[in-house]
Amino acid sequence: MACKNILTDDEQSICHHCLSELPYTHFLIGTNNLMYQKLSPYINIEGAYSLVYFRKRGNIQEILHQLKYKNHQEIGELFGKIMAERINENKEYPQFDFIIPIPLHPKKYKKRGYNQLTFLCKTLADKLNCSCEENLLIKVKHNKSQTHKNMQERKENVQGIFQLKQPEKFSGKHFLLIDDVMTTGATLESAAKELLKINEAKLSIATLAMVE
Ligand SMILES: [Zn+2]
Repeated sequence: MACKNILTDDEQSICHHCLSELPYTHFLIGTNNLMYQKLSPYINIEGAYSLVYFRKRGNIQEILHQLKYKNHQEIGELFGKIMAERINENKEYPQFDFIIPIPLHPKKYKKRGYNQLTFLCKTLADKLNCSCEENLLIKVKHNKSQTHKNMQERKENVQGIFQLKQPEKFSGKHFLLIDDVMTTGATLESAAKELLKINEAKLSIATLAMVE
């Protein structure tokens, strides 16, 4: 999926070489990393984690493109396994109750046919002994692309785009919110603010990649 060489029998989607060459963050999930430092001034979170740094024109951009737009959900499964192993490295970290993917707007979901985060989140839930919950956080507004917007415009663009469905069922739970890439964190912040409206909720955030 990255170098386009033919895989050996024990390789899946991405060859061992390309997988080993990715720009890993080597973060430990929690409060002592760059991801937490970026998000914690705006959101009250227990901890944060990102697996790799996002590099334009690097293999990770190509891999994320295949996952997001080409329906290569096996990439989500592969990275779900890797992320779960890394998250488990912090033995002190509290258990999650629910893994929550950033949702797509129903219209976008219909057009694309899948949420690129579903397989990633289901694998994470399986490996971290909790549940993947796709019906609690819903997207109610279709926002424009964030690509050519500055920080302030991004924040305004994502205000009120998420809502909760039956939040009373989820009091006192610890959620792990998942997205593929964190750029400014505006989308994650907007989703996190909704989840933190839940009575006694605890929230952690993890992404596959983050922009440095
Ligand atoms: Zn390769």
